[in-house]
Amino acid sequence: MRVYNFSAGPAVLPEEVLKEAADEMLDYNGTGMSVMEMSHRSKAYDDIIKTAEKDIRDLMNIPDNYKVLFLQGGASQQFAAVPMNLMKNKKAAYIITGQWAKKAYQEAQIYGEAVAVASSADKTFSYIPDCSDLDIPEDADYVYICENNTIYGTKFPALPNTKGKTLVADVSSCFLSEPVDVTKYGVIYGGVQKNVGPAGVVIAIIREDLITDDVLPGTPTMLKWKTQADNDSLYNTPPCYGIYICGKVFKWIKKMGGLEAMKAHNEKKAKILYDFLDQSKLFKGTVRPEDRSLMNVPFVTGNEELDAKFVKEAKAAGLENLKGHRTVGGMRASIYNAMPIEGVEKLVEFMKKFEEENG
Ligand SMILES: *Cc1c(COP(=O)(O)O)cnc(C)c1O
Repeated sequence: MRVYNFSAGPAVLPEEVLKEAADEMLDYNGTGMSVMEMSHRSKAYDDIIKTAEKDIRDLMNIPDNYKVLFLQGGASQQFAAVPMNLMKNKKAAYIITGQWAKKAYQEAQIYGEAVAVASSADKTFSYIPDCSDLDIPEDADYVYICENNTIYGTKFPALPNTKGKTLVADVSSCFLSEPVDVTKYGVIYGGVQKNVGPAGVVIAIIREDLITDDVLPGTPTMLKWKTQADNDSLYNTPPCYGIYICGKVFKWIKKMGGLEAMKAHNEKKAKILYDFLDQSKLFKGTVRPEDRSLMNVPFVTGNEELDAKFVKEAKAAGLENLKGHRTVGGMRASIYNAMPIEGVEKLVEFMKKFEEENG
């Protein structure tokens, strides 16, 4: 029996996609082999990766002057690749809205001067700082954000004013959750294991003029975006199976009506949970309302023992992985694209019952 899986990542995938993959496990499309077993240079695989690229381009309306790269190494690998590829002046501005942004900022310090131009650390990253008029260095190569903060449950309500600098965004936990205007960014990248597919694949959408040979000395061949772009993400063996599943998820999103429909679906789910939290006497959301994420919803009872009891009893009721991140405690419900509305309804029903019994 499948459970309602509220994991922050790796996370729930559409059941339809999993079933299709299961059907094709032994014989993909008449090839007599699994996608896991075929050459990444074969015709069958070429179709898979090309179709995946085409579908994500359609979904996100990605302009022709942006490359789509399928990479390995997790989102964390890009914490280094970003400065290696972009730090011409060896300076960049970072907005620190949580642990992932902080890690990227710390990594960038290895390669140049990373300047923290804003932070919400003063209130445990429970809000997004005002980014309308930041003190961005004249010679900064880029401005970096983590757009949706998986651990703390915040999302930028508006993109920062970068004062003309290139915007780089880690969108791991909000990838394909709603429409985006790609032209506002220089680089959009994310690990796919939150909202798009299996761990091990990173998708990077990069404006072409930012893909050059002019990278920091010592940049490994594999981390130079140009290497990957020149070879259509097939410089070496890519994470073939993971990309294949991502491709299926793109098709699923298209079938569901695209990113506008995803946004409506996600807003509906998030509203059910936030509305409950806002009137509950026991549970409390931890994020400033205007900065709330549609994807990750942290909440607490204010009593650690009660939190632990909740997580345990929820699990017994088929609602899994509701424990908050180890650095913040409490609970967190991740309600990505593939979480059905019934999952959120069941969760709220369970919270009501728990409140009656323990309030
Ligand atoms: C999970 C996550 C990461 C780390 O991803 P890895 O693929 O494990 O490196 C980075 N950024 C954000 C926003 C995340 O949610």
